[in-house]
Amino acid sequence: MRSHMYAVQYRNSDMARTLLAGIPAGHGLEACGSCDACSVSCPNSVQVARKIADLKALTSGTALYA
Ligand code: SF4
Repeated sequence: MRSHMYAVQYRNSDMARTLLAGIPAGHGLEACGSCDACSVSCPNSVQVARKIADLKALTSGTALYA
């Protein structure tokens, strides 16, 4: 979620990608690759599924802001 903050709120995609790259294998976005849909339901209403989708887009080269 922090990398999403870097990408969207700080508008710093490089910082977001660097953070994602530092996540230990199997604990980052690649783990999300096996999920058809994110099932996380945050009790504090953090939009995890949307943010995961955003990060997947970011790592596939899609800019998250104009
Ligand atoms: S965060 Fe969501 S998409 Fe990622 S592994 Fe967990 S349930 Fe799947």
